[in-house]
Amino acid sequence: MAQMAKTAEMMESKEDRLHQWLRDAHAMEEQALTMLNAQAQRLEHYPELRNRIEKHIQETESQERRLRELLEQNGGGTSAMKDAMGKMTAMMQGMSGLFAGDEVVKGAMAGYVFEHLEIASYRALAAAAAAAGDTRTEQLCESILEEEENMARWLDEHMPQIVETFLEREARDMTAKR
Ligand code: MG
Ligand code: FE
Repeated sequence: MAQMAKTAEMMESKEDRLHQWLRDAHAMEEQALTMLNAQAQRLEHYPELRNRIEKHIQETESQERRLRELLEQNGGGTSAMKDAMGKMTAMMQGMSGLFAGDEVVKGAMAGYVFEHLEIASYRALAAAAAAAGDTRTEQLCESILEEEENMARWLDEHMPQIVETFLEREARDMTAKR
């Protein structure tokens, strides 16, 4: 039995596996849009963070579109990861403490985690595209990867400032959480 299963696994072509991972990435970007829009809409007192998230929403919409166009050319299909991503988003939104007293800080942390999930995904996808000899897909993944790395770096660099602003506003009894 184990031997048969292994043989079936080995039959999966590099292209099939690449296309499956591209569908997963597309599902991930749809979830990213849900999360980023929810965060941006609620932020009031953190204009720099809000602006950066809005910029990344534009980038993410373009990522979603570029992946969708590529998948349509490859014949479509659905992602087995879609449900898992939905559950993960629900968990992250819980973790991001939407409606909690420190939601801006939890949201920035959840965003940081999500960007690194995206970085890992596009690094893996770029390697899979290279292995399948699909240069165009490899280039797309590397271009998206750069946008994710820039967003992750921005959150990394601005985390102290976000936390300081939050704590300062809270100490002055001003609206701090968003
Ligand atoms: Mg993305
Ligand atoms: Fe991203």
